[in-house]
Amino acid sequence: MANRLGLKARLWRERLSYTVNPPRPLCDVCGEPLGRLGRADLHESIVPRRVAMGWPKEQRGLIYVAYNCHLLHRKCHKQAHADPDLMVAIQVCRYGFTPLKVWVDTLPFRVPYNWWHRGLDERTARLMVERRAPWAWLERHDVSMYGRQGGKW
Ligand SMILES: [Zn+2]
Repeated sequence: MANRLGLKARLWRERLSYTVNPPRPLCDVCGEPLGRLGRADLHESIVPRRVAMGWPKEQRGLIYVAYNCHLLHRKCHKQAHADPDLMVAIQVCRYGFTPLKVWVDTLPFRVPYNWWHRGLDERTARLMVERRAPWAWLERHDVSMYGRQGGKW
């Protein structure tokens, strides 16, 4: 799907880590740098692909936004599915609880992962990410983060 490829390229640019040379995004699961764009996997955490399946193409495309997507090593993808709380916590740290919830409320399909009912508020998410995926939390302080404030999903 073309917009998935475009999104991958955009996330690659937005999530570059300058702790590695040349700068590359870090895998959201293991924190190691990704190799190259073509080999990175895209993982959807808040609204999984199966939820959008069966909807017309236009609706299916609604899940391919930065709020919902992670760049991962292919070998780490299974772990992302095994740890949905952590993956959503990373997104809550990146984008904030309210913007994510506002986005979810625009969607036509039922979202299975109700992190707001599971008590995954910003504080809990931050503690979880600091403990288990600190590289993702640090990204928040990168200059590139400020460039996309108020940007499109
Ligand atoms: Zn990895």
